[in-house]
Amino acid sequence: MGAFSFLKELLLLPKMKKLTIAIDGYSACGKSTLAKDLAEKLGYIFIDSGAMYRGVSLYCLRNGLVENSIPDLIEIKKALPKINLEFKRIKDENHLFLNEEDVSIEIRSNEVAQIVSKIAVIGEVRKKLVNEQRKMGEFGGIIMDGRDIGSVVFPNAELKLFVTASEEVRVQRRFDELKSKGIISSIEEVRTNLKERDYIDSHRKIGPLIQVSDAIVIDNSNLSRQEQLDFALGLVFEYNSTSH
Ligand code: C5P
Repeated sequence: MGAFSFLKELLLLPKMKKLTIAIDGYSACGKSTLAKDLAEKLGYIFIDSGAMYRGVSLYCLRNGLVENSIPDLIEIKKALPKINLEFKRIKDENHLFLNEEDVSIEIRSNEVAQIVSKIAVIGEVRKKLVNEQRKMGEFGGIIMDGRDIGSVVFPNAELKLFVTASEEVRVQRRFDELKSKGIISSIEEVRTNLKERDYIDSHRKIGPLIQVSDAIVIDNSNLSRQEQLDFALGLVFEYNSTSH
């Protein structure tokens, strides 16, 4: 499908209902890329919920709330009201601000990647972030990617996507992404981290990563960025043209 195959539908966009679109999947499967591309085409808000868990993790690391990779649960719960997260658009990109500081680069560090899934199992952390995420989606016209978006944050989302890709593809993508950001890591380090996070994320008690029954699966192992976007756009236009 070419970039202009949806020209007619795109022209009708202003008349279409603004949907809530939930995108879930394993680490580094291209969820955020798809969410960002879709949001740009549809004129929707895009929220990378993983960035928020990373923001809380960075706060914990900086404030001595993690020792030997073990989060201090009591102190973290106490600190939560002091953690303010906000997304701001800068040059067409979402930047995450932690207590007024742009931390968009720091949250991608290896240190944060090592600890984030252990912070994300904490019930109080999830409660705070899920509340904030729901507020962001109050008016629809939002695409949020994460692990529990279709199951917990927006269980009534009109469109739910579950994105997957082979382990090899995911490891290589994350490695290339880190390299492009100047973050030094080895392929094996990336693989170990992805596997560990995927395990913790899908086995935790609260808001685990699951493929909900009404999600549409997109395996993008062999899809280009454009093909993945075209497929998802097709689903959005199909939703709008049928009965809704
Ligand atoms: O999406 P990303 O890989 O940046 O997410 C980082 C981590 O944040 C995940 O491995 C997971 O532990 C946590 N997360 C979560 N729920 C979400 C989004 C991310 O628990 N909705």
